[in-house]
Amino acid sequence: AHELGHGVHQYLSRQQGVLQSSTPLTTAETASVFGEMLVFQKLMKELDDPKEKLALLIGKIDDTIATVFRQISMNRFEHAMHTARREEGELTTERFSELWMEQQKALYGDSVSLTDEYGIWWSYIPHFLHTPGYVYAYAFGELLVLALYEEYTQRPDGFSDRYLELLSAGGSEWPQDLVAKMGLDITQPDFWNKGLSSFERMVEEAEEMARVIK
Ligand SMILES: [Zn+2]
Repeated sequence: AHELGHGVHQYLSRQQGVLQSSTPLTTAETASVFGEMLVFQKLMKELDDPKEKLALLIGKIDDTIATVFRQISMNRFEHAMHTARREEGELTTERFSELWMEQQKALYGDSVSLTDEYGIWWSYIPHFLHTPGYVYAYAFGELLVLALYEEYTQRPDGFSDRYLELLSAGGSEWPQDLVAKMGLDITQPDFWNKGLSSFERMVEEAEEMARVIK
């Protein structure tokens, strides 16, 4: 569903020509993540076994946490590292690890114990070196799709036409202008909270299902 979504997006936006068909990173994952969401919802409807349903739902929750919260914590690490470089001069490996651990502790709280060895794990993310400032786009894309899906369930009339128009526009306009045509305003915190509350409902649903299975 994911890669097919990219294919559909590229196919629809071909009319924009080679210079404007590709999207900026922020909307690049829209069609692929939206496609995943449609398949996920369909599979949820088709499954009967409550345990299988719960497993599928928890998989989706895991993915969403990794895409939204984990990437935001990486974005905060990246910000902290560049700020420290400006204020403190050249940074040592140990200093990078300290900044990394601060953000990772904020993310995980007391849910897991982070060992000292985990301090060096910032080094396995290629983006920090090769594409600085990238990681926030994962969280952006996921929340955008959650909000779009919310819009689809609440106001299904004419949604597909507007959605196809959004994809066909490719990268010809700013993301905020394209999404505005869907009746959504990405400059408002409400818009992002929409995505977060639909995620919250997934977690509540999983908790409820787990109670019933017991
Ligand atoms: Zn993708």
